[in-house]
Amino acid sequence: MTRDDALALDAADPLAPLRDLFELPPGVIYLDGNSLGACPKATAARVQQVVAQEWGQGLIRSWNDAGWMGLPQRVGDKIARLVGAGPGELVVADSTSVNLFKVLSAALAVIAADADAPQRKVILSERSNFPTDLYIAESLARQQGLELMLAEADELPGLLGERTAVLMLTHVNYRTGRMHDMAALTAAAHAAGALAIWDLAHSAGAVPVDLKRAGADYAVGCGYKYLNGGPGAPAFVWAHPRHVERFWQPLAGWIGHAAPFGFTPGYRPAAGIARFQCGTPAVLSLAALECGVDTVLAAEALSAGRGAMAALRHKSLALTRLFAARVQATCPQLALVSPRDDARRGSQVCLAHPEIGYAVVQALIARGVIGDFRAPDVLRFGFTPLYLRFVDAWDAAEHLHQVLAGGEWQRPEFNRRHAVT
Ligand SMILES: *Cc1c(COP(=O)(O)O)cnc(C)c1O
Repeated sequence: MTRDDALALDAADPLAPLRDLFELPPGVIYLDGNSLGACPKATAARVQQVVAQEWGQGLIRSWNDAGWMGLPQRVGDKIARLVGAGPGELVVADSTSVNLFKVLSAALAVIAADADAPQRKVILSERSNFPTDLYIAESLARQQGLELMLAEADELPGLLGERTAVLMLTHVNYRTGRMHDMAALTAAAHAAGALAIWDLAHSAGAVPVDLKRAGADYAVGCGYKYLNGGPGAPAFVWAHPRHVERFWQPLAGWIGHAAPFGFTPGYRPAAGIARFQCGTPAVLSLAALECGVDTVLAAEALSAGRGAMAALRHKSLALTRLFAARVQATCPQLALVSPRDDARRGSQVCLAHPEIGYAVVQALIARGVIGDFRAPDVLRFGFTPLYLRFVDAWDAAEHLHQVLAGGEWQRPEFNRRHAVT
């Protein structure tokens, strides 16, 4: 593989035009779309329109006239198409952490209603799951007298049993890029009498997900990563139709009420997934999120009938394969943490070094190659196929080689820790 080969892949790439949908600073290779997606060109004008016209001129009338109240469902329906959920089944609201609290509570209520419930006392998750997911589960376990059991990924199937209430996992591991087999683990959870909750933070817009076909029970996901919704974009929540109306979710706010503007004292949950809303929708953030989701859906028209996510996945795997192969050929100091097997790798490549990972990432950022560092030892590079070129993957590996070979990472400024890594 040469740099010219990478350029030839770009010239033949049917998704190449999508890059033009984004604001990208010149000279930057952006490998952090898994943490904060790039800014779509459409977003600034759309948010400006919402501010100046809908809010500025329409004022409160815009809740009706501009469809503000329906935004959580409208954007939710678009995201549903990317994760194998049906229309009206998924809603945008709150943050991933908050939504996880809601669905875990709801799942525990479903399980508690079963005849054999008293012995189901365990929430099972992965030890290296994203900390907020584990903190939320720890808090709920504490409130309800349950046990949070943590295990390595390979141990999970063997630990499912008659004490398991819920299997709660993140589909693609944030630190390693390893992807679980959602259908197989969901089936194993169900066979044990438990429910399965999936966090799609590193999956939605990054890898094909089919929640319905996998038989998943609940899912949550993030708006600001591969969906390009902007910093702090609201998150999404999905409940399988077989569960959605069985219980209230615990944050029974007025926007999840059957008749918010009835202003009655008693809570009556709205029909369907609408009940998973709590308070007033974040209209400006929802408008920005819709622009981001539209960039992913734009892959549909260029996918030759395969569908947006299938086309994006094809390119994403080719990008991560190329980058991993170049790094392994030129940077023997670094260990490949992400799975080599395409079927088990998300849309990122993670590398490890026992000492100098943080400084190497800082040196790369100074060169305009933006990845991130996840303590204690992981150099993390996210590949968003919407806006990355094959030559970017090739060049990023070359920069990494130069930073290591020339000892550039040793400079003092690259060894000072910032708050956000
Ligand atoms: C990014 C991420 C989150 C973020 O949660 P917030 O509530 O948006 O801060 C949660 N879970 C996982 C697995 C993530 O990767």
